[in-house]
Amino acid sequence: MKLILLGAPGAGKGTVAKLLTEMDGSVQISTGDILRGAVQAGTELGKQAQAYMNAGDLVPDELIMGIMGKRLQEPDCEKGFLLDGFPRTIPQAEALKVMLDELGIKLDMAVNIDVPRDVILDRLTTRRTCSNSDCQAIYNVKSNPPKVEGVCDKCGSPVIQREDETEEAISHRLETYNEKTAPLIGFYENEGLCVTVKATSSEDVINAIKARLAA
Ligand code: AMP
Repeated sequence: MKLILLGAPGAGKGTVAKLLTEMDGSVQISTGDILRGAVQAGTELGKQAQAYMNAGDLVPDELIMGIMGKRLQEPDCEKGFLLDGFPRTIPQAEALKVMLDELGIKLDMAVNIDVPRDVILDRLTTRRTCSNSDCQAIYNVKSNPPKVEGVCDKCGSPVIQREDETEEAISHRLETYNEKTAPLIGFYENEGLCVTVKATSSEDVINAIKARLAA
């Protein structure tokens, strides 16, 4: 399947993407994971992106399109892909459209995961992430803690609170979402690709996507 996952930070895009990869081998592509990996590795990209990310600002479109232009042409994308956190601005969506047309790739849909703001705020402040950039498993101190506190179940690395998940950075990320990313819902409605799912459980989101793919 070839999907875009839209939704505010904390809507569950990453969790849903990880579950969908188990269905048909489609690969999850999270620009946030790629950028955090680059910051941790200290690459040029990471150095350029870090300050924006820590402040809860978007990284410039040129940097993101540079990453995605290469990533979408890698062989593992042939089975399908789940775009998690990309596109995030109208210029990124327009550039993606051109890129996919050139590659002859057709999207199945853009899923807008619509979760109430109070749920989002609660999730983001209680979310914890594996610090290993090759793992980045997601936990929640209330609903899904690691078996051993502070240690990733999957790879044993420390589980941490992301630097952009302080209350200040979270509220800035949500403002940025409303201003820059929410307009993508209209963009993909115009393309006839947008499906809005109002659900707080990832199983419900997955079932809605499956039903839509089968229709
Ligand atoms: P995420 O893990 O998707 O919440 O992304 C974490 C941070 O990475 C965001 O707050 C942005 O600073 C940056 N980022 C991730 N994806 C993008 C994107 N498509 N465009 C611009 N910045 C991005």
